[in-house]
Amino acid sequence: MARIPEQEIERLKAEVSLQRLVEAKGVTLARQGKDWLGCCPFHADRTPSLVVSPGKNLWYCLGACATGGTVIDWVMKAERVSFRHAVELLRNDAPLTGPVVRQATVPKLAAPVGAGQSDHRRRGRR
Ligand SMILES: [Zn+2]
Repeated sequence: MARIPEQEIERLKAEVSLQRLVEAKGVTLARQGKDWLGCCPFHADRTPSLVVSPGKNLWYCLGACATGGTVIDWVMKAERVSFRHAVELLRNDAPLTGPVVRQATVPKLAAPVGAGQSDHRRRGRR
């Protein structure tokens, strides 16, 4: 399986707005100090127990879930996908992420085998 570079993961964690991801899940966030509070979509939440810290871009459910993390952890839980899949979703600027800062990908050198395709994209490689 092609490894996702650590720096790519760090970039996503820093650049993808967690607040936006949470709101895209239909959670209404209310400001509380420097954090945002909302009802956790992952359990039957009657009192807002989901805390989003925009400064750190981290979330935490103080309620039944007692879990939290980064934007990647959020997507894993919200979309029920693997870590890798979550990274792919965020990376590919899926609609669920809202506007993600696009960065030009570093052009890859054409592989000597199977050359001819300049636009060599990741296939379903493991
Ligand atoms: Zn929860």
